Amino acid sequence: MADLPRMAARDWYRTRRLADDVTFIDEPHIREFYRCNIWHVRGRDRDMLVDSGMGVVSLRTHVPLVTERALTAVASHTHFDHIGCHHEFADRCVHAAEADILANPTRTAILADPYVTDDIFTALPPEPYASATYAVKAAPATRILEDGDVIDLGDRTFEVIHTPGHSPGGIALYEKATRILFSGDIVYDGPLIEDTYHANANAYVASMKRLYDLPVSIVHGGHFPSYGPLRHRAIIGDWLRAKGAL
Ligand SMILES: [Zn+2]
Ligand SMILES: [Zn+2]
Repeated sequence: MADLPRMAARDWYRTRRLADDVTFIDEPHIREFYRCNIWHVRGRDRDMLVDSGMGVVSLRTHVPLVTERALTAVASHTHFDHIGCHHEFADRCVHAAEADILANPTRTAILADPYVTDDIFTALPPEPYASATYAVKAAPATRILEDGDVIDLGDRTFEVIHTPGHSPGGIALYEKATRILFSGDIVYDGPLIEDTYHANANAYVASMKRLYDLPVSIVHGGHFPSYGPLRHRAIIGDWLRAKGAL
């Protein structure tokens, strides 16, 4: 295979401001299937970051938006593509079932092994990045989340919905006032991953049933483009029917 070009750090991230003070951040030089959606939400008293990418380039240095105000960095779950920059933030939240992984993110626990090779990139991160030695820095949580907990940004609140299945500590975040749902990797508009080493098929079905009836205006998932309420019902409805669970 031909050598991939290296990107400059300043060209690693891409940001796009959406409605409701939500900003989409991603890493366009990672192939779409592996590319995590990073979500920044502005609140009155503090901001929230949902996931933080692979961690191969500093988010704090290259996306100034994340340093403007007090910020809570939430992990939708602890796979490598979602928690790479969590160590850059002082306030870090994760569900209890994956707190150990955020504190000790071994390559196996975060799925870097076997997924991270040069094949997941269309251009490599800057030197000295190497896929063979890729690692995520430990970022022990400062707050452990459980189902029903609330992330309070002052003028807006997000409810934690525990959504195990893809991984044991997966969470979705739901804002009742706007009906925005950040779904993580339990559901998005692309091929879902149901066979990770810590996946659970029964839990996956239960989580999908729970999200199916949630009134949403928009779903911002862990991967692939966002979508509205009709697509939400179609994706989950089709998935549940295929499992004989609807
Ligand atoms: Zn995942
Ligand atoms: Zn993911």
